[in-house]
Amino acid sequence: MAPAVFDDYLHWVYRGVTVVRDRGDRSDDNFSNHMWAYLVALWIAGDQLGDTALRNAAINSMRATEKDFGRGPYYDEVNKAWERTPPLSTLRRLIMDIYVILLNNKYLHTQWDSSNQEFLKEHPQRTFEITRATIKGVKVDVSSPHQRSACHYHEHKEGGPACGPTDA
Ligand SMILES: [Zn+2]
Repeated sequence: MAPAVFDDYLHWVYRGVTVVRDRGDRSDDNFSNHMWAYLVALWIAGDQLGDTALRNAAINSMRATEKDFGRGPYYDEVNKAWERTPPLSTLRRLIMDIYVILLNNKYLHTQWDSSNQEFLKEHPQRTFEITRATIKGVKVDVSSPHQRSACHYHEHKEGGPACGPTDA
């Protein structure tokens, strides 16, 4: 890809992220689903391009979306995240926290796609970890993803600077 084309692409992508954050008074579930589909695709594009800043920007918009709508991605997007990203990806971490902590495990027993065995295995494991830690008296942070520091779901170079308070 020519550098100029790549610059245009990034500009478009980042402007897209900015537009996504300015969503006005849209509050319906459909809009939330579209937003999640877009943002998950964006994170995966950032992974394929090796673009950490793009992945972090997508994470910021996901946290804003989660906060505004109180919802996570629909199961199609969850399946994509588990199919196309590595086990320790920040995308998976954020989605798992949304399902376990924010949504408190509801929605799982209804229309869930059994094709995503990995998610179905990891989900109760994560729930169990939290429960077990709580029983043992270990203090567990069960804040919703949007209440945590954005950097909890970011990738930063080891020892490098993290985000400032206004970055997310
Ligand atoms: Zn950060």
